[in-house]
Parts: sequence; C-alpha cells; structure tokens
Amino acid sequence: MASAAISPDVLAKYEPVIGLEVHVQLLTATKIFCGCANRFGAEPNTNICPVCIGLPGALPVLNEKAIEFATLASLALNCEVRERSIFARKNYFYPDLPKGYQISQYDKPIAENGWIDVPTADGSMKRIGITRLHMEEDAGKSLHDGFSDSATRTYLDLNRCGTPLAEIVSEPDIRTPDEAFEYLTRLKEILLYTGVSDCNMEEGSLRCDANVSVRLKGAPKFGTKAEVKNVNSFRFIRAALEYEIERQIEVIESGGRVAQETRLYNANEGRTYSMRSKEQAHDYRYFPEPDLPPLIVSPELLSATSKKLPEMPEARRVRMIAEYELSEQDARTLTASREFADRFEAAAKTARNPRRVANLLLSEVAGRLKALDLEPEQSPVSMGGIVLAADLLDEGKISSKQLKQLLDVCFEKSEDFGTVYEREKPQQITDASALEKLIDEVIAANPKQVEQYRAGKKTMAGFFVGQVMRASKGQANPALLNELVAKKLEA
Ligand SMILES: [Zn+2]
Repeated sequence: MASAAISPDVLAKYEPVIGLEVHVQLLTATKIFCGCANRFGAEPNTNICPVCIGLPGALPVLNEKAIEFATLASLALNCEVRERSIFARKNYFYPDLPKGYQISQYDKPIAENGWIDVPTADGSMKRIGITRLHMEEDAGKSLHDGFSDSATRTYLDLNRCGTPLAEIVSEPDIRTPDEAFEYLTRLKEILLYTGVSDCNMEEGSLRCDANVSVRLKGAPKFGTKAEVKNVNSFRFIRAALEYEIERQIEVIESGGRVAQETRLYNANEGRTYSMRSKEQAHDYRYFPEPDLPPLIVSPELLSATSKKLPEMPEARRVRMIAEYELSEQDARTLTASREFADRFEAAAKTARNPRRVANLLLSEVAGRLKALDLEPEQSPVSMGGIVLAADLLDEGKISSKQLKQLLDVCFEKSEDFGTVYEREKPQQITDASALEKLIDEVIAANPKQVEQYRAGKKTMAGFFVGQVMRASKGQANPALLNELVAKKLEA
C-alpha cells in the first residue's frame, strides 16, 4: 500500500482524473494482414510469414473478419463508425517489432464518441465516454525468463506479430479507482457478449494501461498524468491507481511536480515504479500507411453488422429482472455469460412457469454448486433437468421436500435430474382419506392456530399444510393437500 503519511483531509482536497486504454485481441482465425493462424500457445515462431514479420517487399492485406469484429465492438460501445478510416504507421524500434513500425490508426480511427454506463458508489449510473476505438496490429513478445541462459539473453517469439487488436480509449471521465474497475468489468462483459474477443487476461487477449493525474478539487485544468502499464488484472489496476493517486498527491503536497512518465506496477510490492519518460505522439512520426487503401465501412456492412449485435448485458438484466421477477444480484448471476443466459432462457421458455426455473436455478442448484465449489458448467443437473423439476413441482407431482431430496441424490451421484427422478419416482400420497386422517390429527393438535384461521388469518393454512407435509414425510400430493386443508379448516 501507499505511504500512510497523507491525512484523509489532504486526500479529500484532491480529485483524481483517470482515463483507460484497453487493447483487445480480436478472435479472428487468421492475423490482421496475412493468412497466418491467430492462435495463442503455438510453438514459438511457427505462425509467421514475410508479411507479419515485415520482410522487404511483403504487402499487407486487411482481414475482412477483423473489420467486422471492430465494427461490432464499436457499435456495442455506442460509437459512431467512420465510413472511411485510415491506417497509419507508428514508427518505433523494439526487438519484438522487426518491421520497425506498427500499422495502427491515428487521426481517423474506425470509430469515435462512444460510452459505457457504470454504477457508482451511491448506486446511480455514470456515463463514461469512449474517445475512440481503432484497429491495429499486435507486436511479438520478448521472453525475458524461463530459459537456462535467461540471465544474459532475451528470446523473441514473433507469433503474436500481426494479431488483430482493437484499442479502446476512454475519455478522462473516471474519478475513482472503483469507477475504473467497474468500467473495465462492463467493457469486458460487453466485448464477451459480442464474441469479438475471449478477453482472457492471462493470455494477454485483454490488456489495460491507465492514465492518471490528480488536481485540486475545482481546478479547471488537469494535472500532469502518469501512465501505468502492464497491469494484468482488474483488481491490480484498482490497487495500482490507489497507490498512484496517493503518490502523486504526496509529490505535490511536498512541493514537487509530477513527471509525465510511464510507470510499471509491481503487484507483489503494491507500488508503481518509473520506467521511462512518456513519449509524445509526434515522437512516433505517424504517417498514412502507403501499402493499404483507406478502410471503408459501407452503410451496407454497417447495417448488416448491427443486425448481429446481441442484446447487451445491461439491457438484458433490466428485461430479465422484470420478466422473471429477479433481484439485481440474481440477474447478474444469470447473465454472467451470454452463453449461460442463453441456455437459461431457452430452457425457461419451455417450462410451465419460467420464474420457477429461475428460482430453482438460483436457490436449490446454485446453493449445492456453491457448497461443492463447482462452476455452473460443472453442474450434474442440466437446464432440461431443472425445467423438469420445476414442472413436476408446478403440477404438484412432487413436493418441495421431495425435490430437495432428489437434487441431493443428483449431486451425490453426479446424475441429471431426469435420471434420478425416473429411478426414484418418489412416492406420493394421493389417497384423500389417508391425507384427511393426517389433517384431522394436526387440526386436533393445534386448536390455537385453528382459532386464528377461523378469526380471519387465512395465511394460517400454510402452517397446516407444512405440518401435514412433515407428518407425511414429504410424500403428500401438494395440490390435493392444499385443497383438503382448506376444506377441513372451513368446515
Ligand atoms: Zn503472417
């Protein structure tokens, strides 16, 4: 953590200003400008060709799927898509960039002016602007460790050269590390829903750099910003920002000036270190890429792509909360991934009572998964099994106690609900006279409750149903039991 030297009063005088730059690898089968496979984890330097490693004379050809994915992501992030955007060369030397330049977009990116709404501390929503989304190619990777001579040598793996990227730059609208965390969480969720990236941070498919500065509250101008790079989880980004904000306030409070620089976050130590002074855009000598024509996103392509946009996670939550009478938290659980939400809704539609499917999934099934530390995908009970259970419950063919017992068996034996139900076929007492006998006993044993019922407290019926159900060891047919209890109490 940062030094505890700054008092809360001093901290409160300042306002942080945060902007985020996120690089996402697009899930195309091949690279952005050549036919090499775009795949993580291949043997080093096997998915390369003259184009992606920049041999003289090799010419880039733009991957159509990459355009579609960049357009889809732009629309999902509420951006305006430019009909004619321009690729530019960003010139710099680094060993993992053998071409000596990166093909990117500069003053005419494919999309601009988008936004994401994020929840804030007081529960309201705040709109964070997205300045731009542009396309570019990834560089290769320098491998600094893992080899016997890593102390003296660096190895290069150029497989990643030419992987298609979308860079998404936010406006400096973010004011707290928590807002930054929420922005990233929502951004990732939206990108996953569109299917343009797997957003796997461990494999580097999603990477984030943060620009952060502080200023006195109410000051008209932004302070000097530092860029924090190479942070590999959203939690670490929040921690890095917390550290960096305090560090900058400390510098200013002690009479110093914040340097414009790039800093690296060390997660083990929980602090950032200066890496290099920050380069300016003009250092890169951007110029239009002479080997590529302007990128045209025609109105036809735009409208075809917009038809591929799925319902976005936030909108889906709002709809599902209304449709299935869910809490916000339950809606979040059900929409955690598009695939899961799709499976749930497809199944729920076939049930007599879709809300009951949601309830069973969120209570009985989720509870058992949690107890066993299993992911939803590892559940022995399929969505179809949950629908069957919900229908049987709805039709009164099993009691809720029997349902719980059947689910216990499913999880014990790792079997689906249908299999267990067919085998165990729980006994039900559907003989009215047998049930009436039990009801009479319960009524006789609880005169006070009978009095309350007859005095007008009709909800007391539930008490009697519960008592008789228990006396029948959960085997009473629920529908018949309800009917008979009402009849007996009214008699
Ligand atoms: Zn290639």
